[in-house]
Parts: sequence; structure tokens; C-alpha cells
Amino acid sequence: MTSWQKILKNSVSCAGQLSSFPGGDLEGIEEVTNVYPMRINPYYLGLIKQAGDSLWRQAVPDIREIQDSTGMVDPLDEENLSPVPNLVHKYPDRVLFLVSSQCAMYCRFCTRKRKVGKSEMVINDATIRAGLDYLEKKTQIREVLLSGGDPLLLTDNRLEKILKALRQIPSIEVIRIGTRVPCTLPMRVTRDLAAMLCKYHPIYINTHFNHSAEITPQAAHACSMLANVGIPMGCQTVLLQGVNDSSEIIRELMLKLLAIRVKPYYLFQADLTRGTNHFRTPVEKGLEIMRSLIGHVSGMAVPTFALDAPGGGGKIPLTPDYIQSLGENSITFKNYHGLPCSYPNPGTAAIGIEI
Ligand code: SF4
Repeated sequence: MTSWQKILKNSVSCAGQLSSFPGGDLEGIEEVTNVYPMRINPYYLGLIKQAGDSLWRQAVPDIREIQDSTGMVDPLDEENLSPVPNLVHKYPDRVLFLVSSQCAMYCRFCTRKRKVGKSEMVINDATIRAGLDYLEKKTQIREVLLSGGDPLLLTDNRLEKILKALRQIPSIEVIRIGTRVPCTLPMRVTRDLAAMLCKYHPIYINTHFNHSAEITPQAAHACSMLANVGIPMGCQTVLLQGVNDSSEIIRELMLKLLAIRVKPYYLFQADLTRGTNHFRTPVEKGLEIMRSLIGHVSGMAVPTFALDAPGGGGKIPLTPDYIQSLGENSITFKNYHGLPCSYPNPGTAAIGIEI
């Protein structure tokens, strides 16, 4: 067993193991874990300062998870968009390929909480083979996003077998890995893992940090190791009530991500997943946060604020409106300070566009 597997083995999975935190609702936690699993590994547990803080809320079950009657079990309609189990084909040229049912921590707000970490999520050699067969036949697919669960919870050998098989399909150009491991279990990122991954370039990694308290020296080291072998690192952050729903928290996070060589990529409005309603913020909150970033911090620190449309409608960018009027000859807008500006607009006729 490798050292990261040993750490994972000592994870907290039942309420009684949290009794050292004053103020935790142990009975409520126990009730929720009968429906949705809990896993908090010792590394992430060590980052929690007190019950109710931003990291606790991401990791520890809340009774509201089983009181939510408004959310949808499968808000993105992934099961109906899966031509074979665990492969979601929503966009023409790219797919989501679920290759692991396990994560280093079970995030309370997970979009796939209907199955991640549960026996319902069956991933084995046969499902992986079925996914690869599908990809071999569908030559229009250029990009594969490996996800789960967390692909980096697979052993190096198992993950390498999948990457090798993908690289034998000529139509697949880009492999992207979605993983929260650099944040939740950074010691999983080893030199051996980085050396193995870089044999299969172009590989991109989108990781997932939600609060600057998650950016520790260990997390920074993990991201550096991956960046050092040429893997572009991006971050998908989820906007969560009581965790990071303020301009100050998001700004600090985005700047710290850049400093550890991770480009803020998306800031997501939380999905309509059943069991997560207490995390959802008004869309206006996200727009307000975006206004506090645009122009005020480096453009590289500004993510795209977006929501994933229910029913598999795809990502919808949500952008604060700076335009006040769009005329034939000029456009007027407010700049990031809220000051009015205008810009001479050549007009559609000048560039040969007919409406
Ligand atoms: S790491 Fe990702 S897939 Fe796993 S529980 Fe968290 S959000 Fe869900």
C-alpha cells in the first residue's frame, strides 16, 4: 500500500469520529451518512479549524441534505446522455468518461452525489472497455474528460492503462483530467504519477479549490509537480453559500491559485442537485463577485462565471452587463469603476454584415 492509500484508509466515515469538534450535530451527521457517504481523510480533516467553518461545510454532512425536496437527482441528465454506462456524450466533439467511483473526500455539494462513493456506481474493466469501444467508433470525438469520482484515486498502473488505450485512438487529441486530489489529498501527486502522466500529452488538469484555506504548502507542491511536467492546470470553483460567497473570499482564492500556477477557469453557480439546496446562492451574488474581479485583479485571475443548464442544456456563461447602449455608430458602457465611456462603433455596414 502506498503512503497516500494509507492516509485514505484512516479517513473519517462515521459521526462519532467527529466528536472532538464542539458544536457538531452528530445525530444529524449520522442520519445523512445513511443516505450519502462521508469520507474526510486525515489531511483535509486537519485543515478544519472548527465546526461550521468553510472547510467543515464542504466535508461534513448537514441534515438539510436529506430534507431537500426541490433538487433533482440527476440535474444534468447525465444518465440519459450516456450511450454506455459512465460515459456522458453531451457535446459533439467531447465526452465525459467516468473512470472512478471514489474520491479523496465526498464533497457535500457534489453534482453526482446520487452515486459517487456508493455501490450504485459500478466501474470495472467491462465499463471501461465499453467506453473505449464507443470512443473508437465515434471519430468526431476529439477530447475526453476523465472524471468520476476522482481519476487520481486509481493506482498509477490502472490509470496508465486507460491513458494508453485512449492514446491508441487516433481521433482523440486532448485528454483532460478532472480531479480534486491536489486540494483534498495533495500527497497523492507523486513524482511517479507526474512522470507517468506526461508520457500521454497533451494532458490538461482541471482541479477544484473553493477556499484559500485549501491552498497549503502541500497543495502548492502538488500543483507545481504537475505544472513542472508541462500539464496546464485550471481550477473549477463552485460558488457555495456559507463557504465562499463573498467577493473578498473569491478574490483571495483566485489570486492564490495564480500564485501556485493554477489558472482560474470556471466559477460555477451550484447545480440543482438534490441534497445541495442549502448551498445555492442567487445568481446576482455571482455577478456581483465577477464585477469585483473584472478590472480589479489581473485578467488571468478572472474565471468565467457559468451555470450548467438543467437537463443537459450545456454551460451558460453569466457575465455582468457593462453595455448601456449599442448604437449604429457608437457603443456606450460603464467601465469597471462604474464610469460612463463611449467607443466609436464602425457599425455592421462598415464590415460588410447585413442584418
Ligand atoms: S471530488 Fe468531485 S466528484 Fe468527488 S465528491 Fe467532490 S465534487 Fe464530487
